Amino acid sequence: MTERLYYTDAYQTEFDAQLVAAPEINHQAAVLLDRTSFYPTSGGQLFDTGYLGDRRVIDVIATENGDVLHVLDSPLAHVQPGQTVHGVVDWPRRYDHMQQHSGQHLLSQIFYRHFGYETVSVHFGDTESTLDLEIAALDQTQLDAAEKIANEMVYASLPIKAYFVNDRELATVPLRKPPKVTGKIRIVEIDQFDYSACGGTHVRTTAEVGTIKFTRLERRRNQVRLTFLCGQRAYQDYAEKHRLLTEAATLFSTELSEVPRLVERNLAQIKELQAMLKTFVEEQLVREASALVSSAHVGEKYQIVAKVFADKDAGATKTVAQNLQQYPGTLALLAATGGGKLTLLFARSADVDVHMGNLLRDTLRQFGGSGGGRPDFAQGGGVDPAMAQTLLDFAVQQLAMQKIQ
Ligand SMILES: [Zn+2]
Repeated sequence: MTERLYYTDAYQTEFDAQLVAAPEINHQAAVLLDRTSFYPTSGGQLFDTGYLGDRRVIDVIATENGDVLHVLDSPLAHVQPGQTVHGVVDWPRRYDHMQQHSGQHLLSQIFYRHFGYETVSVHFGDTESTLDLEIAALDQTQLDAAEKIANEMVYASLPIKAYFVNDRELATVPLRKPPKVTGKIRIVEIDQFDYSACGGTHVRTTAEVGTIKFTRLERRRNQVRLTFLCGQRAYQDYAEKHRLLTEAATLFSTELSEVPRLVERNLAQIKELQAMLKTFVEEQLVREASALVSSAHVGEKYQIVAKVFADKDAGATKTVAQNLQQYPGTLALLAATGGGKLTLLFARSADVDVHMGNLLRDTLRQFGGSGGGRPDFAQGGGVDPAMAQTLLDFAVQQLAMQKIQ
């Protein structure tokens, strides 16, 4: 069983140990030592990285029999079992994990004591951590209150210590949750406030946890998941958000505090302008339909409006077609090619006796496209936009030959 130096000193980053074995784990070089300061992934806390000799430690695994396996980027050369290996733990990563882990103990106890909510699971990630509470909903007031209490307890700089207890002593420890293991139990205590059975690494006082900030609240069935940041992570998050808000304020040429109001006002203005533009475009399309009718080809039974709109999409062209339907004795054969896509729209007024759906279907079929519709309105596509005029010419020809009734 590997002696875990971090149990007694989480701040020790360098150590000497004897090589016990150098097995391979999943085709990767691994090292077993008689003792280690490297923390293996366990209890939700992520593994440490660092160096053993001149090799990078890329993963640390806890085995079932209590050993700690160090996975290396390449085998440790020239070291035999019994010889000494020097280890160095990456301190910024370890300290970051310590801040998150101690912060989590503090938060879990605050939710338990002040609100009666139990922590059902925790997860420490590379960039953020989460804790799941056994409660269907948590309102913003409770969340703000818990965050305030937590940060006040940080300022109070309460000592955090770790120690082992036997079965008899364990009975006197007011644990939040019963331990998952038996035998000698390691207790992490935050100054008579929280007692957790925990094998993790922790900071010396709550002050070192640094700022605690919730960043997200999610409801999941009968639980809520809280995402939180502690210490350096909370600071970096603040710095990043400050930078983003400053960027937004610069874009609006305003103070940071004015950004939300300006965004709101701008959105309202955009909405207003969009409505005005819509009305303007609709009026324009009515005028356009009127102009088209006045230049229509007048036949015996009806007048034909045939036009390719290279600058319009299907939506605007449809509005023109609908406007043209209002003119008695009118048949509109329109093609929209805006946006590099062809849409054919055929429409007629109620008094014209030609089936638009059939005419459109036959026209498109002739050129490999598809579409159809009602007797008075039809739409389709699937043909190269360059063919638009040819399609309309074909449709006019069909009408002249009275092939469609
Ligand atoms: Zn813990």
